Amino acid sequence: MTLPSGPSADQWAAAVAAVRSVGADDEVLLICHVNPDGDALGSMLGFGLGLRRLGFTRVHATFPGVFTVPGPYTEMPGLDLLVPEAEAFADPRLVLVFDVASESRLGGLAGRLAAPRSVVLDHHASNAGFGGVRLVDPHAAATSVVADELLSRLGVPLDTGIAECFYIALATDTGSFRFDMTTPAVHELAARLIATGIRPGDISRRIFDSGPFGAMKLTGEVLGRAVLDESAAGGRGMVWTWATLDDLDRHGQPPYVLDTLIDPVRRVAEADVAVVVKQTGAAEWSVSMRSKGAVDVSAVAMTQGGGGHRLAAGFTGHGEARDVVDTVRRLLDLHLT
Ligand code: 5GP
Ligand code: MN
Repeated sequence: MTLPSGPSADQWAAAVAAVRSVGADDEVLLICHVNPDGDALGSMLGFGLGLRRLGFTRVHATFPGVFTVPGPYTEMPGLDLLVPEAEAFADPRLVLVFDVASESRLGGLAGRLAAPRSVVLDHHASNAGFGGVRLVDPHAAATSVVADELLSRLGVPLDTGIAECFYIALATDTGSFRFDMTTPAVHELAARLIATGIRPGDISRRIFDSGPFGAMKLTGEVLGRAVLDESAAGGRGMVWTWATLDDLDRHGQPPYVLDTLIDPVRRVAEADVAVVVKQTGAAEWSVSMRSKGAVDVSAVAMTQGGGGHRLAAGFTGHGEARDVVDTVRRLLDLHLT
């Protein structure tokens, strides 16, 4: 599959012009997606710190839904830019959106796209095409790659704060520089970020290799109930598991501890596809899917109103967990690559 090309010269110029057209004391609102991950927060906060360096004095950063910063990100630079959705500028002059593939991921903040100027920075091939200026590069390993390029075109030099945010974003979305998107350009960006003086070892320990005891016990329980279905995905196999709100409750854990649960599941060699179904409401589930290449899981997700990348995607499912998984199993056979 060939991916659409990245932003044109005109789109980059329009994005630079949009930022430059706004006064230093005008209200600027940055938004990332609901349940933010390292790329959403990192690209947004790193860019926000860059705007500060440009002299902008009134910058808010926010995301829709429950206002919780996942534990791994609670020491990220630029967190002082964050405000809850309800306190974010209602009528900003400029809106910038980060890592959001579809307007639905903006929840109640989607209306802010009506601001006089809006710029969408993203890297999802499934991006639905919304907002004023669209900087969508499906070849970018993370939205922070796009954010770094825009800051550089605005003449903002990297500092340690910006670099740490962008590094967290890049490391998160490349699976610590393991995925196919890890191009020479990704390593060159990582080199520029590390050259500012940030400490990759400390950052990785905080982001990837640290978590509460209860989260480990919860993970153990949820992994213990995983099911392997070797006949799924045209015989390439699917492994899946589920976690309920009751599981979280019993272990006293917040939902974000399940964000990386897909990683041990997708290691299973007998399955091409890994699925984790996480309860978010009475009959509502957040579905994470990964493929090793047999299936375009973003196509599966898009049939259910979700999105993502060819090998990593998700959507919101309804009903019983088993029904959601049955739907996925059926759709996998329709989207074999
Ligand atoms: P994860 O499984 O890590 O939550 O998400 C994997 C990928 O799928 C990410 O790129 C994420 O943006 C996308 N994704 C996950 N859930 C949804 C969803 O409900 N809607 C959309 N549009 N994308 C999703
Ligand atoms: Mn991303």
